[in-house]
Amino acid sequence: MIKSQTNCSDLNEPDLITVTTALQKILAQIKPLQQYQRIGLDHACGRTLYHAVIAPFNVPPHRNSAVDGYAINSADLPEPGNTSELVIAGCAYAGQPFTGALAPGECLRIMTGAPVPEPLNVVIMQEQVERFDNTITLDHNHRPHQNIRQAGEDITQGCPVLLAGKLLTPADIGLLASLGLTEIDVTRKLRIAIASTGDELHSLGSELARGGIYDSNCHTLKASLDRPNITVVNLGILDDNPASLQRCFEETATHCDLIISTGGVSVGDADHTRTALRALGSIEFWKVAIKPGRPLAFGCLNKTPFFGLPGNPVAVLVTLYQFVLPAIDKMLGITDRPVCPAFTAISTEAIRKRPGRTEIQRGIISQATTGHWHVKTTGQQGSGILRSMSLANAFIILEHDRGPVKKGDPVTVQPFAGLL
Ligand code: AMP
Ligand code: MG
Repeated sequence: MIKSQTNCSDLNEPDLITVTTALQKILAQIKPLQQYQRIGLDHACGRTLYHAVIAPFNVPPHRNSAVDGYAINSADLPEPGNTSELVIAGCAYAGQPFTGALAPGECLRIMTGAPVPEPLNVVIMQEQVERFDNTITLDHNHRPHQNIRQAGEDITQGCPVLLAGKLLTPADIGLLASLGLTEIDVTRKLRIAIASTGDELHSLGSELARGGIYDSNCHTLKASLDRPNITVVNLGILDDNPASLQRCFEETATHCDLIISTGGVSVGDADHTRTALRALGSIEFWKVAIKPGRPLAFGCLNKTPFFGLPGNPVAVLVTLYQFVLPAIDKMLGITDRPVCPAFTAISTEAIRKRPGRTEIQRGIISQATTGHWHVKTTGQQGSGILRSMSLANAFIILEHDRGPVKKGDPVTVQPFAGLL
């Protein structure tokens, strides 16, 4: 009979920390970047607004017509049951305002977007009048201010239009353009170094030696971080030598904002990243109650945050979404990304699960004819089985305290759309 030591299936270890605690500890050490750059509006989508934008003028700048029709003064509206005849005294187009004056009993032919001159305050759709030569006849079914877009109804002069920390969307870019802005201050790009560790790893294009595998993590990370506000510095496959790893990480910390390595943070004899990071002193090794992704290294090298992710390809993605992306958002000062857009779906199968750790399984969600969302797993869920992730369109999040899932039970799902 041998005495088994604590291992990755042990959920009662005193030094096991929850996902929430791990994330809190990480975010407590992350500081937002304090530098910004001024860039052209057409390059700003996907960047973080650094300074709030205050509207320099009203949008729309003037009252204008929302329809093609006739602008009149409400004093010329008929009494209920009667009609009025008005003479068309001029025409206003978008971009060609009417500048003359109107007498009582006169109206203006007006097109969508054309300024509505004072004192006119009603626009009637052309389909709702009878026109004969230069006169129109209208009934009483109209209200003051109808079909008129008020000046400043979209954006009011002096008000903040967008707040600092906004991750700029195509609509934001249009909004800024409507204010005549050609340039905008955004948080500077985050420089993220990525590195793969492991003697078995080979770069793409090289021949696989016996026992070797291609380095997929570096490509997964590059693809995940290919975002407008990030510059990836690829350190490649690092020599599995603690002293050179240590030198490389220390040197990289001098010119990158964040370092992410994969592999070598577990407790095996070949986990050299662990040895190298240990020597640096400032990195902690955590056992996080999450599957996959339990071994995680985190700390700061001088002031540069460092993530040592596990080597298994699915664990890389799961820990990236759970821990690294929130840290990146905080560094970039992003304040408006939904943390975890998740909803409930019915599991169409039983799923094994033990209380005491968060399990992030990979699933396929679909909407049943009843309108309810259903989910099934992508099959084998080993942390090395990257196909489980590639087949999936959502994570199935089985919460820390949850036990086994029965067929028909509700489970939390987090769709990849919007997350990636
Ligand atoms: P480790 O965390 O270093 O013990 O690695 C766990 C598993 O992930 C091992 O089977 C490794 O071969 C694999 N692995 C580590 N790094 C990579 C990588 N960059 N690409 C693909 N697989 C990897
Ligand atoms: Mg390894």
